[in-house]
This record gives sequence, C-alpha cells and structure tokens, in this order.
Amino acid sequence: MNIVFIGPPGSGKGTQAKRLADSNHVPHISTGDILREAVRNTTELGKQAEPIMASGGLVPDDLMIGIIHERLQQADAASGFILDGFPRTVVQAEKLEKVLVGNGHGDLQVLHFLVPDEIIVRRIVSRRSCPSCNAIYHLENAPSKVEGVCDRCGSALVARTDDTEEAVRKRLDAFRKQTLPVVDFYRQKQSLKDVDGNGPVDQVFERIEKSLS
Ligand code: AMP
Repeated sequence: MNIVFIGPPGSGKGTQAKRLADSNHVPHISTGDILREAVRNTTELGKQAEPIMASGGLVPDDLMIGIIHERLQQADAASGFILDGFPRTVVQAEKLEKVLVGNGHGDLQVLHFLVPDEIIVRRIVSRRSCPSCNAIYHLENAPSKVEGVCDRCGSALVARTDDTEEAVRKRLDAFRKQTLPVVDFYRQKQSLKDVDGNGPVDQVFERIEKSLS
C-alpha cells in the first residue's frame, strides 16, 4: 500500500489520509505535519520553513526531498505508507520515483481530491488542529466533543497560522501552478484516480476505499 494523496488545501486529504493509515496500519506521512513540528522545535529546518509556510508558499524542493528520503527509509514505511502533501511539484514527483526504486518499494497509487473552491474556503476557516497529535477538527462538520480540546489527547486545539484568507489564496495559487502539473504527471502514468472530496467524511472515505485496488 504505497499511496499518495493530492488535493488543494482544505480538500480533506489530511483527515482521510489519517483514517486510511490507521485502518491499514501503515504510517501517515504528512510533510506539513513534519514541517510544523520542526517549527515548534525551532530546528534549522523549522526556522527556514516558518516564514514560507506562514505566507502560503512552498518550501524548496531539495529540503522536502531530503525529508522524504529519510522518512521512507524508516522501518515502519517498509510495508507501505500514505503520503499526504508530497509530492507538490514535478521535481518532487520525479525524485520520489527514484527514492522508491532505491528503497525497493512497489508501485504508487495516487488519489486526487476534487473539492470546489467555495467549500475549501469554508472548511479552512473553521478548521482546528491539535498541535500534539495532529488530529483535525471542524467547528461545524466535525467538532471536538469538548470545545477547544482534542478528543484524542486532551491538548488545546489551535487554528493553523497559515489558515488565514490571504495565505489560503496563495496556497490555492501554489496548488494550481505547481501541484496540478503533478496531477498530470501521474495521470499520464495511469496511476491516478480522481476522488470527489465533497460530502461527509464517511462518504468520502467509502469513495476512497472503492478507488483503491
Ligand atoms: P499542508 O499541511 O500539507 O497544507 O502543508 C502546509 C505548508 O507546508 C504548505 O503550505 C507549504 O508551505 C509547506 N509544505 C508542505 N509540504 C510541502 C512540500 N511537499 N513541498 C513544499 N512545501 C511543502
């Protein structure tokens, strides 16, 4: 199970990737989560990534490729993984192929989430996440049981600093310009399936399971 989730910000890919990873006992590898942790720990990577992330831009390819290269070599990824947020550029996609061949990983299945822009904006504005365990909530659709508190680990929930309207606009722009070519890259290889990401979480999850062979 080597799966890549591609979708614009707020398409629900993080929520769905976590769920699929849990039910299949493979790691959920989110480059956004890895970078946010580096920012929290003020590592060199975190210091470099913080202003780029806050403005909605993309962190340089060589840094991202290094992160994924290292992460995929860890033992828990040997029998599969769900990649969420990587690759985001064609350069990253090409390097990923080399890394997978080098590690002896099998073929990729790529799911591309389609969600209309107006729904994305609504979802992002109401998104809250847990800085400790990375669980994701939505004030309207998927609220935590106790307001502002993570159901899984009890930490205080936060709104992401890049979930402002201005940063979201820039992230959508980066998605269109830099990540849609990645969708074409995988479509040409016939390893990509489109998934309608609009609707309740359970319904989208059923569509994902049907799409995966
Ligand atoms: P995400 O949690 O996937 O929405 O990622 C949050 C932010 O982290 C993005 O807006 C980028 O600034 C950065 N980021 C995450 N993954 C990548 C990547 N593969 N390439 C470049 N930047 C990334």
